[in-house]
Amino acid sequence: HLSVTGISKTFGTVPVLVDQSLEVEQGEFVALLGPSGCGKSTLLQIINGLIPADSGRVVLDGEDITGRTGSGRGMVFQGADLFPWRTAIENIAFGLQVKGVGKAERLERARHYLELVGLRGFENAWPHQLSGGMQQRVGIARAFCIQPSLLLMDEPFGALDVQTRDILQDELVRIWEAEPKMVLFVTHGIEEALYLADRILVFSKRPARVLSEIKVPFARPRHDDMKLDPEFLR
Ligand code: ATP
Ligand code: MG
Repeated sequence: HLSVTGISKTFGTVPVLVDQSLEVEQGEFVALLGPSGCGKSTLLQIINGLIPADSGRVVLDGEDITGRTGSGRGMVFQGADLFPWRTAIENIAFGLQVKGVGKAERLERARHYLELVGLRGFENAWPHQLSGGMQQRVGIARAFCIQPSLLLMDEPFGALDVQTRDILQDELVRIWEAEPKMVLFVTHGIEEALYLADRILVFSKRPARVLSEIKVPFARPRHDDMKLDPEFLR
């Protein structure tokens, strides 16, 4: 369970978040929609402990993690933000290294997630040798590899072409269904939000506040299931 309460943040004289609260239930996939500059990334970074809030609390699974990084959270950014000097497998294993997991075990676990995202054979590739979609796959594997209870995703597919995005959406759902965890997923696409999320929070312009909350009333479809059968066209 994630409980964010009374978060406020002002940059200089600009209030970005004012007494913002939200809850995420175990295993729930929540999408955040809202205009550019409203404060979505700021909110995610505060939850991740990368930006300090002026006030408010972040409690994850009963533990107060306000202002702390690490513990229980994985993050995927718009550009995958891989370490350019680490190979794909090293990038995925990095979080485990920080946690002090021994080399053999972390490489084994990293390999498992690398294969889950379809990158078998690319263990030793450098980030610059991978396409945008492949880099994003590494980013997803890296986030899952630390087995967080909360996954924070900030427009992870925003920079990808439509086809690659569709494929990665399906892959994310497949991996997430196998290892359910709470997800906060920022996107500009209402379609993407409807497609992926159990619940959508729509934020106002800055300072961000929740304008409406949409419970998505249907089960997650798959792009694959929705594709027109070529036979149908004959
Ligand atoms: P987008 O959809 O474009 O990614 P966003 O909702 O993620 O937008 P944020 O990046 O959270 O928006 O930014 C919210 C506001 O805070 C913006 O006005 C931005 O200029 C400001 N801001 C963000 N980070 C900082 C910072 N480090 N210093 C000063 N102002 C900042
Ligand atoms: Mg943003």
